[in-house]
Amino acid sequence: MRVIKVKRIKSCAEELLRDLSSCVSPGVLAQALALPEEEFLVFYTAANETCLREKGKFVHLRAIIEFSNCCRRQCYYCGLRSENRRIERYHMEKSEIVETAAEAAEAGYKTIILQSAEDPWYTADKLAVIVEAVTSLGTIVTLSVGERDPEEYRLWKEAGATRYLLKHETADPGLYRALHPCGTLEERLDCLRGLRGLGYEIGSGFMVGLPGQTLETIANDILLLGDLGCEMAGIGPFVPSPDTPLKDADGGSAELTKRALALTRIVYPGMALPATTALSVIAPEIRDTAFGAGADVVMKTVTPNRYRKHYAIYPAPGIGTTNIAEDRLKLDGKIRLLDRIPL
Ligand code: SAM
Repeated sequence: MRVIKVKRIKSCAEELLRDLSSCVSPGVLAQALALPEEEFLVFYTAANETCLREKGKFVHLRAIIEFSNCCRRQCYYCGLRSENRRIERYHMEKSEIVETAAEAAEAGYKTIILQSAEDPWYTADKLAVIVEAVTSLGTIVTLSVGERDPEEYRLWKEAGATRYLLKHETADPGLYRALHPCGTLEERLDCLRGLRGLGYEIGSGFMVGLPGQTLETIANDILLLGDLGCEMAGIGPFVPSPDTPLKDADGGSAELTKRALALTRIVYPGMALPATTALSVIAPEIRDTAFGAGADVVMKTVTPNRYRKHYAIYPAPGIGTTNIAEDRLKLDGKIRLLDRIPL
């Protein structure tokens, strides 16, 4: 009796997996996301096999410098929103950013992600000089500083930045509007398309578990990554942040986040997919298993200690202190324990 049940379960999930390989549709993705736990295992296995086939055992480690938490926007979910008067604001000077990047490069990181809130204090020229200095260390520079003018993106490309991360956050225009008093989904997508037109490798992504989100929304989020031509995607749970209008909302689930990640790997075999920090915050043990569900990237914070706690997008208990070289060695060891090879 039990054997028959297991067989039936497997064949239903396998049928969905077959559908996915012949024709990716929001309906099939949403059905897969809704499967009971034991049925979804087929997708985790497929995601892991796809990842190993396309990427080998390699996990790309990238250093992220969160160089400013000053923000002009008011996204309802984000602790850095301009109306949050409870956090101490900072901008890192060029010399500090370059010193931190040099230390990260010395520790073995080949890619430096320069991320900040939307901070106009960094004029296009000021940031171009920083990008040029970090590029001259021999590292790949990824920028993630939000929505700016096409001319500014062009200047930073000329200064040496080759990749840009800008999550679309949610593919549902109505939900986007409800969460972002300062902009529309179309404006964000225009930025991503413009960046791609300039020759950047682009990374987008979305949050899982936003209030009002449905499984169909997540399915559309996954499909939008392909429409945009993304090379990378950050998929993390929504984590309620104190001092924001969404502080009392339910957070996203680690399991659903991991499912979205696995499906994204199956649909886009070559995409760079981090095991996100937000996932490690709500479930460190599950983040580790994300490497068996399609993830092939880790973005490790190297932000100096005196700033790190103030980059409080959401609460991160046990944030600890940064020692770039030691942290890198520890991370290498952890990745190897998962039978992966850190790069
Ligand atoms: N300013 C840049 C931008 O707009 O892309 C980068 C900084 S922004 C703080 C980085 C990311 O944090 C956002 O893309 C968003 O997905 C994520 N984020 C913000 N608040 C969050 C929350 N409460 N839970 C999970 N992720 C959150």
